[in-house]
Amino acid sequence: MNLNELNIKQARELLDSGKTTSLEITEACLAQIAAQDGQIHACLTVCATEAREAARAADKRLKQGEKGPLLGIPYLCKDILMTKGIRTTAASKILENYVAPYDATVVRKLKEAGAVMLGKTNLDEFAHGASTENSAFGPTKNPYDLTRVAGGSSGGSAAAVAANMCLFALASDTGGSIRQPSSFCGVVGLKPSYGRVSRFGLLSMTSSTDVVGPIAKTAEDAEIVFKAIAGQDELDATSAPEKIIIDSQKNIIDSQAKTLSGLRVGLPKEYFLPELNPEIKTRVMALADRLKEAGAEIKEVSLPYTKYGIPVYYIITPSEISSNLARFDGIGWGLKDEEAQNLQEFYKKSRGAGFGPEAKRRIMLGTYTLSAGYYDAYYKKAQTVRTLIINDFNQAFKKVDVLLTPTVPHGAFKIGEKSNDPLAMYLEDIFVTGASLSGLPAISIPAGTVKVKDGGDMPLGAQLIGARFQEEMLFKISEFLV
Ligand code: GLN
Repeated sequence: MNLNELNIKQARELLDSGKTTSLEITEACLAQIAAQDGQIHACLTVCATEAREAARAADKRLKQGEKGPLLGIPYLCKDILMTKGIRTTAASKILENYVAPYDATVVRKLKEAGAVMLGKTNLDEFAHGASTENSAFGPTKNPYDLTRVAGGSSGGSAAAVAANMCLFALASDTGGSIRQPSSFCGVVGLKPSYGRVSRFGLLSMTSSTDVVGPIAKTAEDAEIVFKAIAGQDELDATSAPEKIIIDSQKNIIDSQAKTLSGLRVGLPKEYFLPELNPEIKTRVMALADRLKEAGAEIKEVSLPYTKYGIPVYYIITPSEISSNLARFDGIGWGLKDEEAQNLQEFYKKSRGAGFGPEAKRRIMLGTYTLSAGYYDAYYKKAQTVRTLIINDFNQAFKKVDVLLTPTVPHGAFKIGEKSNDPLAMYLEDIFVTGASLSGLPAISIPAGTVKVKDGGDMPLGAQLIGARFQEEMLFKISEFLV
């Protein structure tokens, strides 16, 4: 096995026993990026010099006997998180040459833990999308089939983990952007509860649903990264003070003993409508059967407002985006038009040249839904229905401990297949928006493969959704299943 193919746990053992060094693993990852990324295009920036320096520093700490779960482990970071001294573009022309003067809290935490950042990964511009085709710098390709998308918006992070360019990656999920690409690329992706992980230094998309989380090769690895980045942060007023490990959950789930008796798993019937691809249903039900064999009780539940998830998400999201992207006006930071004759023209030209078509579409939609004449009809109504969606989940979690669903309605599609049809692209999010609008933790784990249109078998994920702050339960079930 090449060193870049290791998962975190395997690398930890080799590093702690002195059988390898962080520098060796880092070199193996950099070599894999050099060999593969010309085709896959998972990375926007590779910082080899800084990575080697960080690896040497980690090796020094290891030599001195220091222990730490991520000490010396190389990773890639979605290019929507601020990284001090290293370009942060959000895959947008407007930030093409932007270098942040500070680290996002999650990046700082990983730095302190001794993890080694190899570079920044591709995404849909400002994380708007489900295929990474909205990147101003070209799409990321799926390592399993280079004619297909890696998913989005964190397609670069998911493809990089799947192609063993790193041991794990950081990503963000606003409405599925960790889970959907993880499903398409056959890796594990966790969207933590809203507020669980600091958003400080994450370029804001939809501030009320944005969350940072890990994409990893195993559920255990995702848990290790999650624990390193989670926690309240005085720099993010929306970060939550709740304890990370809830001990009472340990009694229900004991992955070591392989027994799940007492666990109640809900299958929401709105996620298994007759239109669902039967192969996907079979894969998810196979996981349900395994949980049942291990003693869990499987129950059908109902989330009647599921069908409003996409319409609500696509009103609230552009509304928040139109406000969040207002800060990119050419003054202070980002692309500026030097030729403009007056301020109005300066704004128009800078923003006109800097933003891509999807960002512009969302700015226009959001400006409309927030305008005085339409606020009540759209934004306010969407927020009201959002409360009903949250209430659906609250009711379901009175009856069950966790929900099991498909992550996506199909496998990875062809590059170009949906890029001219924004509504088809929005429908990608059908199973992922509910947990986002409700602030719930959700994980996508590999569930086998599915036949895709005009192609062979591609990876497929299943989703586990927990009650707020119950990440521990999701990890234990995932570790039992995969
Ligand atoms: N597909 C969703 C969107 O386009 C996902 C975005 C995200 O989670 N960042 O908004």
